[in-house]
Amino acid sequence: MTHSLVAMSYIVATILFILSLSGLSNQETARKGNYYGMLGMAIAIAATTLSAAVSAYAVLMIALLVGGSIGARAALKVEMTQMPELVAIMHSLVGMAAVLVGYANFMDNTVVIDGVEKTIHELEIYLGILIGAVTFSGSVIAFCKLSERINGKPMLFPGRHWFNLFLLIASFVLAGFFLQQTEHGGGLIPLLIMTFIALVFGVHMVMAIGGADMPVVVSMLNSYSGWAAAATGFMLSNDLLIVTGALVGSSGAILSYIMCRAMNRHFLSVIAGGFGTASGGEAMAIEGEIQPIDAEETAQLLKAAKNIMIIPGYGMAVAQAQHTVNEITKLLREKGKKVRFGIHPVAGRMPGHMNVLLAEAKVPYDIVYEMDEINDDFANVDVSIVIGANDIVNPSALNDPNSPIAGMPVLECWKGETTIVLKRSMASGYAGVGNPLFVLENTRMLFGDANATMQAVLKALKE
Ligand code: NDP
Repeated sequence: MTHSLVAMSYIVATILFILSLSGLSNQETARKGNYYGMLGMAIAIAATTLSAAVSAYAVLMIALLVGGSIGARAALKVEMTQMPELVAIMHSLVGMAAVLVGYANFMDNTVVIDGVEKTIHELEIYLGILIGAVTFSGSVIAFCKLSERINGKPMLFPGRHWFNLFLLIASFVLAGFFLQQTEHGGGLIPLLIMTFIALVFGVHMVMAIGGADMPVVVSMLNSYSGWAAAATGFMLSNDLLIVTGALVGSSGAILSYIMCRAMNRHFLSVIAGGFGTASGGEAMAIEGEIQPIDAEETAQLLKAAKNIMIIPGYGMAVAQAQHTVNEITKLLREKGKKVRFGIHPVAGRMPGHMNVLLAEAKVPYDIVYEMDEINDDFANVDVSIVIGANDIVNPSALNDPNSPIAGMPVLECWKGETTIVLKRSMASGYAGVGNPLFVLENTRMLFGDANATMQAVLKALKE
């Protein structure tokens, strides 16, 4: 493939990636956005493969086949609720690729460059390996936390900020040694020590973040993986990889910022870890009596209500209750009720988790609202149905300064007339904190698997 044809294909792929990002920013255009992304990636892979020497085709085909089938198998097998884990482990692969490309570049003797160009190339290698190693180890820990292979609670060492500062300074000093030693054909030792330091830093950083702050970590690692890819692009002089990496890096950074704002967190405090866990007092004890309700009584309440709010959470994803929820919504709307959905920005286990499920079940977009759009309207709501949500409707976030989720805005459903909470037990949610909503006077608990209970409610509504 000629050089200009490759450049042309790269430009087309870049445009498709930009169109993909803009498509993904809206539910109605998200599907189209995905198609643009897939087409862009297919063109990028084809152009890159065909631009290699013909002798490399066989190896590249084998690599494509192996990588492609592992990816396809993982994507087919993964449950919607395991998506953040899959994303985290994929990020770790981007990090590992950056590290490996960095070392391959370092050992490549065929590159003959001098002076400033050589220094820049060596810095690219150093930075690529640094970002790649942090992304790799951080993503592996995020994967282990999200899949509950290790405890999700923040692990806070005394003096951890000093430790981080020490690692940062050490990386700078080692960069100096590295550049000095490469003058004489060396540099491997500082590179290896820095890689070890970066790996430790990645582990330490993500271990210290816990509870409700994990969504920010996932999007932050997404951003890191983009920068790692961009660094790889610099090392390989591949413009498309640089642009794509920068797109992923900056969109991940913007998403992290938006999520921090939605959760009333400061980005730096989240990264430094342990936010909200350092307060002096004990979190409020939850006291009071729960009032259970059954499916028939729930149906009666819904029949009598005019204004209904549905608040989905992680449990709806676990129970795969979205289709039954849609059936109920259709039925209630046919009966002339006003039914709306209230979506918290961190509901579920990944950004947009609930929107994806509701779109899959064909819930109309125009009745799905963001938290900010409907939070002031709960006073007019007759019945709120909380389906497998917990942290996102926890009043202690607002009224208990010692709560680990203190300061996080939540859906204030308790301000409505009645709240019905669907869950299987009194267990806490992701952040591991008790929820006083469950014992409020106007709350009713509907225990059981969300899909089974919703089906029972649907049956009772039809009778
Ligand atoms: P939570 O994890 O707070 O609560 C989910 C609730 O669902 C649990 O209390 C559980 O209770 C219930 N549940 C589980 N399975 C079922 C089932 N089959 N049927 C009925 N109920 C069920 O979820 P939220 O959506 O309220 O909050 C999201 C949390 O996840 C936040 O803390 C957020 O920070 C965090 N997070 C979010 C990410 C994101 O990007 N959105 C990423 C990573 C973390 P029980 O066991 O009693 O049934």
